[in-house]
Amino acid sequence: MDKKTHAFQAEVKQILHLVTHSLYSNKEIFLRELVSNASDACDKLRFEALDKPALFEEAPNLEVRVLFDAEHKTITIRDNGVGMSADEAIEHLGTIAKSGTREFMAALEGEKKKDANLIGQFGVGFYSGYIVADRITVESRRAGLAPEQGVRWVSEGTGEFEVETITRAERGTDVILHLREGEEEFLSAWKLKSIIGKYSDHISLPILMRTQKWESSSPQTTALPSSPPEGVGSPGEAGSTQEKKAQVDTDEWETVNKAAALWTRPKSDITDAQYQDFYKQISYDQEAPLAYTHNRVEGRTEYTQLLYVPAKAPFDLWNRDKRGGVKLYVKRVFIMDDAEALMPVYLRFVKGVIDSADLPLNVSRELLQESRDVKAIREGCTKRVLSMLEDVAQSEDASQKDKYAQFWKQFGAVLKEGIGEDFANRERLAKLYRFASTHADEGVSFEDYKQRMKEGQEAIYVITADSLAAAKASPQLEIFRKKGIEVLLLTDRVDEWMLTHLYEYEGHPLTSVAKGAVDLGKLQDEEEKKAADAAAEAAKPLIERLKKALEARAKDVRATTRLVDSPACIVVEEGDMSGHLARLLKQAGQSAPATKPILEVNPEHALVKRLDSAEGSERFDDLAQVLFDQAVLAEGGQLEDPAGYVRRVNLLLAG
Ligand code: ADP
Repeated sequence: MDKKTHAFQAEVKQILHLVTHSLYSNKEIFLRELVSNASDACDKLRFEALDKPALFEEAPNLEVRVLFDAEHKTITIRDNGVGMSADEAIEHLGTIAKSGTREFMAALEGEKKKDANLIGQFGVGFYSGYIVADRITVESRRAGLAPEQGVRWVSEGTGEFEVETITRAERGTDVILHLREGEEEFLSAWKLKSIIGKYSDHISLPILMRTQKWESSSPQTTALPSSPPEGVGSPGEAGSTQEKKAQVDTDEWETVNKAAALWTRPKSDITDAQYQDFYKQISYDQEAPLAYTHNRVEGRTEYTQLLYVPAKAPFDLWNRDKRGGVKLYVKRVFIMDDAEALMPVYLRFVKGVIDSADLPLNVSRELLQESRDVKAIREGCTKRVLSMLEDVAQSEDASQKDKYAQFWKQFGAVLKEGIGEDFANRERLAKLYRFASTHADEGVSFEDYKQRMKEGQEAIYVITADSLAAAKASPQLEIFRKKGIEVLLLTDRVDEWMLTHLYEYEGHPLTSVAKGAVDLGKLQDEEEKKAADAAAEAAKPLIERLKKALEARAKDVRATTRLVDSPACIVVEEGDMSGHLARLLKQAGQSAPATKPILEVNPEHALVKRLDSAEGSERFDDLAQVLFDQAVLAEGGQLEDPAGYVRRVNLLLAG
């Protein structure tokens, strides 16, 4: 075929315009795109050769080579994959076959939003070469065709391209980028290697570059051996590829990528040590992970997951904006770090790799948020991580049990966030939670609690406080202690929030012992109830006096049976915010609604009895204020008027 000029399809022109005008902020991706195309071409050949082994010709080892020529300012990406015939080159490099491209372009134009990241997913990866090149030459020969049926495609990436027939001995493709003025930084082995390392390390084919020694010793001979660069693209010279082939073979080449993605290998081939090493590489964590899981998921959405739970929390665990430790690959091509859309926020400590077979290369973070495939991946990965944790948590093995306790110390509070974020998995999550209780200082699960519930007990009792010591000292616990009923002691900052989402466990309501009137239901026998009623009746006049005296501070005053050793305690009405939560909000600089608490008094307590016999309204008033202030202090609260409290107590002490 003689040299012929073709016009690009209209959409290609638009895309070319877009590429050259909006992708300059992330230029280096051109190499990722072209290496990925080269690797795809090799995959295609491998597939076709299943039926026709002859397609391998003399060269069954599939590989990608990256070369550069500093003198002529070219970079070549060479593969010995399937190649293209002249017709295929015209078709594939001149039109965009994928449907939806027109709509995509229209949307981009319409919103005047030139989101460069969207480009790759419409199969325009090849055109990204024009970010750094003002001319691209493609020389190719389809596997199975004669050497005379090679093709040279040349374009400046504006309106048209030229195609002609050449003779090319080797099958496969050379993409030769003639760099724009100012893009010389890419003419460096170090630079190219580092880009390959960053994006293409896990391409499973070897990516070869000439050894540096060769480069530095003969700077003048870096011209591309099999593909004449700059200015030698005339048909007459096409045959020169063969003469120079010998030189290629004597060159020294080194593989610059790892060439084997760990996660693509079968599990049975990978040792525990290799898994651990890989974890260290991707996490920069020197400690061994707590657990890992490696699976290939097939079905509507196909992907491979290799996920790790670290043993230690990173220093920035609490920064919810710094999310995700999962790297996203698409068909072994690195796409992005910290792909937060692949994991729920509450699993942000999980590290690893997800390699999707379905997602488009160059998919943007925005697009990830909306993709259905990504949603399926996220759900699948969440389930995997939860079952990994369940395995450790439920293991009979003592060392595994310790491991889980360790995990819970590091990450428990984060996992608690999940109860509000992940409705679908709330039951599984609740089973993984561990607490302190009046029974044990740590490691109490809801299951453990259930086992120890008293005959007739329906609720799971909890109390929130600022610290374990404060929780343990809460006067509200007294009656539960006396009756031997276990109460969970919740002291994580996130606990109050958790309780707004977790209100029951397997039919047992979670009931705060500091909220509402204490109702021990069936746990109280008839006699106790009678005695309580009688005491409340007897205390009525006192309660009325207290209500008056504390009008400004307490919503209500009532007699209670929940106290054994303390004279009084503060409770809030069912549905009101607890004092603990109000304090947390205040610390965080947020305003908490001003609700007055309820004061509950123990009619049996000596102080209360003394109060009842107090003479003179002033003295009664002082005692009432002291009673209220002490209840606030016992609950971990702060007094509005500490000086007033001290003055009143001193008066009382003085007689
Ligand atoms: P995509 O790779 O997403 O299909 P590209 O614009 O990158 O889109 O490439 C368009 C087409 O050109 C590819 O689908 C492929 O058929 C062909 N092509 C590109 N690079 C090569 C190559 N190195 N070898 C063979 N064919 C290629």
